[in-house]
Amino acid sequence: MEKTILIDDIPVLFKRRKGSKNMRLYVRKGQACLSMPWYVLNMTGERFVRAHMVWLKEQLKQSAPSRTFQDGQDICLLGTPLRIQWVGGTKTGEKDGVLSVGGEACHLHRRVSDYIKRQTLAYIEKKAAEYAGRPLGHIQLRDTHSRWGSCSAQGHLSFCWRLGLAPLFVLDYVIAHEVTHLSEMNHSYRFWQKVKAINPDVARAKRWLATNGHTLH
Ligand SMILES: [Zn+2]
Repeated sequence: MEKTILIDDIPVLFKRRKGSKNMRLYVRKGQACLSMPWYVLNMTGERFVRAHMVWLKEQLKQSAPSRTFQDGQDICLLGTPLRIQWVGGTKTGEKDGVLSVGGEACHLHRRVSDYIKRQTLAYIEKKAAEYAGRPLGHIQLRDTHSRWGSCSAQGHLSFCWRLGLAPLFVLDYVIAHEVTHLSEMNHSYRFWQKVKAINPDVARAKRWLATNGHTLH
């Protein structure tokens, strides 16, 4: 029996095994897994994962070899399906469902990632301002494996750039989540009420991240 549980915004796959006598936490292909005896409660498993959180985050960072973008690959950028096509020349840009990539063929991956990052950051800045009701400075993109977004005590927001490849309702939820942290630095009931007030799609987005999040890397 398997079930994904979100712990500190990290999806952990709880695997109950008949024969197992102990809990064992490990990372496989960028996915955190906890194998556990069938009778152990979710709550107990969750406590176990939390106790090993520092270790887990380190493992997640090291695991998950990131895939590289290929010529001819189909991606979905900010909700728009695009086919990556290397054309050479100087410009990289999208038109009619094609992301034409310039530069040398061996730099295709970097060119595509840079393009995704630029578009994603522009989208996040716009959406965050809309959610916050004011323009926000200090928005950064990172290549994080364990967290989709974060908000520092100074009010600086950062996001994993790969969210640009997730469905828009997922990205919008992460933006709403981090923008809400500007006023609520916790995950209290009030925090979730505020997130839902600006973006009602919370449950669906969390479910998507828990099930498909690792495919973005
Ligand atoms: Zn949070």
